[in-house]
Amino acid sequence: MKFNRILLKLSGESLMGEQGHGIDVKRLAEYAQQIKAVHDMGVQISIVIGGGNIFRGLSGAGKGFDRVKGDQMGMCATVINSLALSSALDAAGVKNRVLTAIRMEPIGEFYSKWKAIEAMERGEVVICSAGTGSPYFTTDTGSSLRGIEVEADVMLKGTRVDGVYTADPEKDPTATKFHDITYAEVISRGLKVMDVTATAMCMQNNLPIYVFNMDIVGNLERVMAGEEIGTLVHN
Ligand code: UDP
Repeated sequence: MKFNRILLKLSGESLMGEQGHGIDVKRLAEYAQQIKAVHDMGVQISIVIGGGNIFRGLSGAGKGFDRVKGDQMGMCATVINSLALSSALDAAGVKNRVLTAIRMEPIGEFYSKWKAIEAMERGEVVICSAGTGSPYFTTDTGSSLRGIEVEADVMLKGTRVDGVYTADPEKDPTATKFHDITYAEVISRGLKVMDVTATAMCMQNNLPIYVFNMDIVGNLERVMAGEEIGTLVHN
């Protein structure tokens, strides 16, 4: 595996770190350091980050929020996380810019494929925030969409689990890990790698997904060096 341009998906939930809510500055700094190491190798990097540490539309709807407004709150949450990551990258000396799927200058520039590619070619890390800009989607789908649009070689899905398992390894001790698996099998087995919309988009557009544990410092570099520490999802 040799990747020149990657779309890195980070979960909002992981940003909570040990503290269980909000943004853990230690985790944030660790992410920035890992991204810096890969950026220093000359890899072009786009990032999509979730918002689950702050707000999720679906759980909001369960508490009586209007679903569309709840999803808009969730998208705003991803912008908050994106700004936090941008700030941590600044502190690490990595040039970066935040693009938003919804107009909100001067917080970030309105996203376009060409703006994202031009910035990456100039050596900037691009953070694509606010998901797809539309309700009823997730940042997983935002990542598939952006990954395909910016012509990334792979979507690296950084999670707190080290790959795709036959069942949730945090609940089922007999679960075993896949070295690689097809999108079709992920969907037919109902595996919770990403939601079906996101998985189907990657399948139709041939964007491979590599699932790995991003919470272990150094793992992003290991993946880029070709170490097989996670699970590859492919056609
Ligand atoms: N969201 C949305 N459209 C998008 C992306 C996200 O409406 O294109 C909303 C949705 O409410 C979601 C929330 O933003 O629950 C946070 O995103 P996500 O749950 O994907 O974050 P993660 O679970 O990865 O932390």
